[in-house]
Amino acid sequence: MQINENFKDLGENYLFTAVAKKVAAFQQERPEVKIIKLGIGDVTQPLCPAVVSAMEGAVREMGEAATFHGYGPEQGYPFLRAAIARYYASHGVEIDPDEVYVGDGAKSDIGNILDLFGPDNAVLMPDPVYPVYADTNVMAGRRVIYANACEENGFLPLPEKDEQADIIYICSPNNPTGAAYDAGGLKLWVDYALERDAVIIYDAAYESFIRSGGLPRSIFEIPGARSCALEFCSLSKKAGFTGTRCGYTVIPKELSRGGMSLGKMWVRRQTTKFNGVAYVVQRGAEAVFTPEGERQTAAAIDVYRGNAKVITDALTELGVWYTGGENSPYVWLKCPDGLDSWGFFDRLLREAGVVGTPGVGFGRNGEGFFRLTAFGSPAATAEAVERLKKLLGK
Ligand code: PLP
Repeated sequence: MQINENFKDLGENYLFTAVAKKVAAFQQERPEVKIIKLGIGDVTQPLCPAVVSAMEGAVREMGEAATFHGYGPEQGYPFLRAAIARYYASHGVEIDPDEVYVGDGAKSDIGNILDLFGPDNAVLMPDPVYPVYADTNVMAGRRVIYANACEENGFLPLPEKDEQADIIYICSPNNPTGAAYDAGGLKLWVDYALERDAVIIYDAAYESFIRSGGLPRSIFEIPGARSCALEFCSLSKKAGFTGTRCGYTVIPKELSRGGMSLGKMWVRRQTTKFNGVAYVVQRGAEAVFTPEGERQTAAAIDVYRGNAKVITDALTELGVWYTGGENSPYVWLKCPDGLDSWGFFDRLLREAGVVGTPGVGFGRNGEGFFRLTAFGSPAATAEAVERLKKLLGK
């Protein structure tokens, strides 16, 4: 009997546990302080009315023999795949509904997609990074190399000539840095991948936060991407589905390597290991893409965008360097006074009662940086920002 020894190479998943422990200890020591959490990556706005009413209707269908749904298609119901294809078309990207694969959220698909790739690929991802990309590859025993994301490149690294990558992770707008690539930056990555026959794994989980004209919402806006990229997206942050669970992966028909179509491999993988997303959830997801759903979900995103603006305005006023916030719910700031990430965490907690996430938890390059999120309530965010101003304005 052998266990998967690769698990021994995984770092302790201790970031949020360490944060929670420190917060609990401080609260015990100073029970009178009303702690405000700007560290969470979960949404707080509820599902919008269009989604709720679609799901209510679907639940009633499930309660009648004539309209009951059992196992559905593993790739998602045609009504949702078509709605997602229409959504892409609305921002100028033509995809076939057959290229859309509905899943129970981006995190599962990000992990599961690795079934399609051999063990010896060199995997490139930025540092700092969403920890799931690295950990899923370490579990499978793959070698991970890091692209240097830093203040100098605005946390948007570009391909380097001698980089030898076979699988490339790009997340834009990025978690944790909030930075977003423009079309020129993405084109350089697409050209690099095409030249090397590499595959880009593109995470568009935060595309719905993009408001700046000209910033791509999808890698498929870039010429050539259909033959070198696949894309994950999620309704978690777009429509508050973090607890409802629905996302999708787009794999173009042109994408093949080693004589195998990646889309067909994914179908084979999913039909073997996955039995589809609940009908009720898919009806709710379909409603997100109706004009009413789009309007209502955009209103919720605007609440978060408003919070992000309150945070970034304060940082600008305080002269603190940051990225993100504009097209992202994340604001990534340089710790003031030369503090390291945990040093600033402690100071912010102890002197202002505000919780954020130490940047070093997302990779070595995150040291000296700090992540604040805009997912709180507007009142709590405004209060946290007032405390931050008082702390740093001194
Ligand atoms: N990708 C990124 C970059 C994320 O930050 C998250 C969630 O925080 C996910 C994917 C996972 O999203 P989902 O809730 O769809 O699994």
